[in-house]
Amino acid sequence: MLNETLSRSVEKTDKIFVAGHRGLVGSALVRKLQQDGFAELLVRDRSQLDLRNEADVGRFFEQEKPAVVVLAAAKVGGIKANNDLPVEFLHENLQMQNSVIRAAYESGVRKLLFLGSSCIYPKHAPQPIPESALLTGALEPTNEAYAIAKIAGIKLCQAYVREYGANFISAMPTNLYGPNDNFDLLSSHVLPALLRKAHTAKQEGNRELVVWGSGQPRREFLHVDDLVAACIFLLEKYDSPEIVNIGCGEDISIQKLAELICDVVGFRGELAWDTTKPDGTPRKLLDVSKIHALGWRHRIELREGIARTYEWFLRNKT
Ligand code: GDP
Repeated sequence: MLNETLSRSVEKTDKIFVAGHRGLVGSALVRKLQQDGFAELLVRDRSQLDLRNEADVGRFFEQEKPAVVVLAAAKVGGIKANNDLPVEFLHENLQMQNSVIRAAYESGVRKLLFLGSSCIYPKHAPQPIPESALLTGALEPTNEAYAIAKIAGIKLCQAYVREYGANFISAMPTNLYGPNDNFDLLSSHVLPALLRKAHTAKQEGNRELVVWGSGQPRREFLHVDDLVAACIFLLEKYDSPEIVNIGCGEDISIQKLAELICDVVGFRGELAWDTTKPDGTPRKLLDVSKIHALGWRHRIELREGIARTYEWFLRNKT
């Protein structure tokens, strides 16, 4: 059965379910959708709806009948959490995405956006990484469980398109940061971890700040406000099952990132390296020529984004 409304783009009056509205991406998306005049937003707290529960999710979709869904809910974490908890990262993400994607199709959702991650690509993918690198080589072991779940999500969306004519699209964001990020030192990603460490080191007058690994790996960082602008752009303009990378097109070494963060925060001490911690994948830079060709590019440069995130941190986490 082909979805008859396939070609209709997302409209301001559409009922949009943002799954994961408390997280980094979901909270930024809700803010931006509201600013842009989307009036019918649907959200549920974890206490109201457990997205891992297929029966509950099915009932929720049948009752609420959203027209559009953004699947921003996921169990996420930095290199340590990913490496330490492969069962949770694989199983919980599969459960959540399976429930939501299936219920979306069964209840007649017109368009769904699934959010993947740049870690779906092989460890030794060509850099910058084109969308065509998916499933061309072995994954980075420290985030393999999460990556496998995300790849399964992409494939499920594509299968619904091919078999049932659904309009389910998938975007692959690079490493994200911004307000409502996780700043816990053990489970967070590198940027919020280093922001917190630099702040604490400055407050306590420490002489050094410990950075994990060798400092040599390179990562690309995108402010979450840019990501959600790209998501809305794709919801309005993109109707293909082929995945789309979302990034800024530039990467930076972890050492340079640490120096930049110390500069923004105003910590003047030394960096020390804890090489007992893993480096992870050597480089992760997305090829963003596809989204550029579609007509979108990022706006927030890294220094400005870090400064804005630090302001948020000072207001909310201290
Ligand atoms: P990844 O992109 O999946 O590897 O996840 P992360 O954002 O957690 O880590 C990126 C890189 O930053 C890795 O090479 C880490 O070893 C390095 N890194 C340096 N200091 C830290 C830290 O304090 N926390 C985290 N999570 N990573 C750090």
